[in-house]
Amino acid sequence: MSKVLIIGAGGVGTVVAHKVAQNPDVFTEILIASRTRAKCEAIARAIGRPDIQTAQVDADNVDELTRLFDRFHPDIVINVALPYQDLTIMEACLKSGVHYLDTANYEPKDVAHFEYSWQWAYKQRFEEAGLTAILGCGFDPGVSGIYTAYAAKHHFDEIHYLDIVDCNAGNHHKAFATNFNPEINIREITQNGRYYQDGQWITTQPLEIHRALTYPNIGARDSYLLYHEELESLVKHFPTLKRARFWMTFGQEYLTHLRVIQNIGMARIDEVDYNGVKIVPLQFLKAVLPNPQDLGANYEGETSIGCRIRGLKEGKEHTYYVYNNCSHQAAYQETGMQGVSYTTGVPAMIGAMMCLQGKWRRPGVWNVEEFDPDPFMAQLGLQGLPWHEQLDGDLEL
Ligand code: NDP
Repeated sequence: MSKVLIIGAGGVGTVVAHKVAQNPDVFTEILIASRTRAKCEAIARAIGRPDIQTAQVDADNVDELTRLFDRFHPDIVINVALPYQDLTIMEACLKSGVHYLDTANYEPKDVAHFEYSWQWAYKQRFEEAGLTAILGCGFDPGVSGIYTAYAAKHHFDEIHYLDIVDCNAGNHHKAFATNFNPEINIREITQNGRYYQDGQWITTQPLEIHRALTYPNIGARDSYLLYHEELESLVKHFPTLKRARFWMTFGQEYLTHLRVIQNIGMARIDEVDYNGVKIVPLQFLKAVLPNPQDLGANYEGETSIGCRIRGLKEGKEHTYYVYNNCSHQAAYQETGMQGVSYTTGVPAMIGAMMCLQGKWRRPGVWNVEEFDPDPFMAQLGLQGLPWHEQLDGDLEL
């Protein structure tokens, strides 16, 4: 008997709910709660299981969360609301004695800055409460860290060079749209780039470094060096790393729109006065952009996300590339959502499964690469995200 509470009814929340419902042996009772209850009800209807419960909750409010937790008594909360809510949901988990899992690290609303320090600071309190908090269990962060842990465990004595490569070769037939929450997405991409080399962080201009990388079944795509949150935890947990970088593909059309959005001030996250009303331009932009949840029906093509790793095994240098390709249409047929939501929601469900089955249950606050990757990797293929390996191939990096 395990009760799961899903917070957030967006693209990722929809996929998590479908996948949780597909595993009734692990998740026996399901409650979906979010700011807008109608969205939770729509998900429950789409799944077609009348026993799925729904609730309205403001996840910025610890007391409201605690009241909901104390009413439903979940064993675990899967937080797929926005990164702004991470700390309030962690607080409520501590108050009500519930395990916690999320897919993105905390970000304050008023500064486009993310790092793990705020959530790592909860380690002792989760330890003392005997509760497990699993951080960053989507695809990247998430599977990217689990792939790295799997490589370190099975293929290398020391990993030296890590490149996480994230390609979306899909086409949604819109001039411009983001694949997940536009506000979070645009904040992430317009930041300075950053990578780790020889014990130091090197900062670049936004999207300054790019090169064509070849993705399986897709071909060459322009890939841009970004800072991504899992780099912070991976260099900490794999101290043999000499360099760690993250690459993401963008098309020229997307980048042109992004440049215009920035140049005309629509990416601003401070308040401006509009006819006596305070608005945040990026939040206003979100309201007029296509909703990422509506992209699925016409989305073609696939994503390809993986880790390219170089290191030593028995004194010899080897390379290893592990990746998943996910079809947007297949994801849509199964869950009504496109591949980016799917590749995030499936790992979130598996992480919760690992915790409830006791395979990933350890009091404290943990990044995914700190757990045994094997049981998680065994589930990935079964749950819709099969992975493939290339040994000693050309990494291009
Ligand atoms: P959406 O914007 O589609 O969904 C977010 C949901 O959270 C919405 O249902 C929203 O409610 C709800 N919400 C927002 N604020 C509150 C609040 N204060 N109280 C209650 N509910 C709230 O986002 P996505 O589904 O695209 O993304 C969800 C999360 O997944 C994000 O944190 C994102 O960063 C992360 N992510 C992680 C990835 C990874 O690989 N690790 C990749 C992609 C996303 P409403 O519907 O009313 O707006």
